[in-house]
Amino acid sequence: MGTNRAGRRRACGATVALFVVGALVGACPSPSASPRRDGAPLASGVDAAPYAPAAVADAGAVQAAAVEAGAEVAADAGAKAADAGAKVASGPRTLGVVDLHVDLAWAVHAKGASLADPGRQASLARVRRGQVGALVVPLFVDRGYAMTPAEARAAYQATFASVAARVKSEGAGALTPFFAAPEPGRVRMLVSFEGMDGFVDDLAGARAWVARGACFAGLVHSRTNALGGASQDPDPKRRAVGLTARGKALAEALVDAGAVLDVAHASDATVDDLAAVAEARGVPLVDTHTGARALADIPRNLDDARIARVARSGGVVGVSLYTGHLTARGHGAKATLDDYVRHVEHVRSIGGVAAVAIGSDLEGAITEPEGADGAATWPALDQRLAARGWSERDRDALFRANALRVLDGAAARGCGRDR
Ligand SMILES: [Zn+2]
Repeated sequence: MGTNRAGRRRACGATVALFVVGALVGACPSPSASPRRDGAPLASGVDAAPYAPAAVADAGAVQAAAVEAGAEVAADAGAKAADAGAKVASGPRTLGVVDLHVDLAWAVHAKGASLADPGRQASLARVRRGQVGALVVPLFVDRGYAMTPAEARAAYQATFASVAARVKSEGAGALTPFFAAPEPGRVRMLVSFEGMDGFVDDLAGARAWVARGACFAGLVHSRTNALGGASQDPDPKRRAVGLTARGKALAEALVDAGAVLDVAHASDATVDDLAAVAEARGVPLVDTHTGARALADIPRNLDDARIARVARSGGVVGVSLYTGHLTARGHGAKATLDDYVRHVEHVRSIGGVAAVAIGSDLEGAITEPEGADGAATWPALDQRLAARGWSERDRDALFRANALRVLDGAAARGCGRDR
């Protein structure tokens, strides 16, 4: 497993501190491949259709409205979150960061990581110092694309069982069990998916997970599968593939059950097809963890046209801490927290402040930028953004309110109804 930042072994396993707000949980990697999990530096230049400024202008207008609406929602959610935060910790402002993508399930299940290991990127100590309120942890299954659907489904269950047991045993008091109702002072955890090969022929199974509270649904991971094309597939032809008919059927079933489609890892054609499904139903879609292709030209990153499209849907783009996303120089590339700020501000410039969120990809064998400190990075980022003129309201929108807006919307549409 890749080490990051001065060889300190923090790559797997984490404990999580807590916040009332939302729920979430996510994750991701693939030990069999090289340690770089999320950043195979594919030949760049797989250019998507250049974005139309008109679209962005249109996006701008729509976004202005959405920003206003989002700002109201954000303000409201932020106020709620702030109240909740205030209830939890009276005193100075707490960030209550909602991190849309942290690879805890993989770290625990595939690496046997202890949640209490202080050396981890998302160790309990770092999560507390980072004022993290919630984490999204996907039930990632390595090489799911090479399994039968039944094998992949069994692997999701096994991964869930081990991380749920670990959260219960090591996180008692600090973490709520998966899918449990929020509790003051504890991190609430829910499951999401990154790669849904197991549901290609089991829509009912997919709906059941959404009803339990798995709100974010990423259909593909590092390879094109039976559902759609992946941006990191080594074969350019397979990288150009969009959603398959079965992928579209699954995407529609997921959205109808209340889930939010996650375009992370999807090929440009698949992103467009997923966006069309979400737009047809008037619901947001997200990219839980990515960089801006305009700043780091790799297919894995979102280009401006697709950032604008996610923003227009009312969704969010989670900006990844992985230097392989912040630069086009692959795993282990040098980058700084200023590079992270540049990606965040680029997404804001294209999609508006209501479209930016945190999606760190921590615990996914990622290399971090200089100046970051795993899940404890956020207060430093908050200060840096304040120094660059970001209002407190806009910082709260970035750190939690925008993500909560999308999650609250999913809950209102049925995600977690059977919790
Ligand atoms: Zn990922």
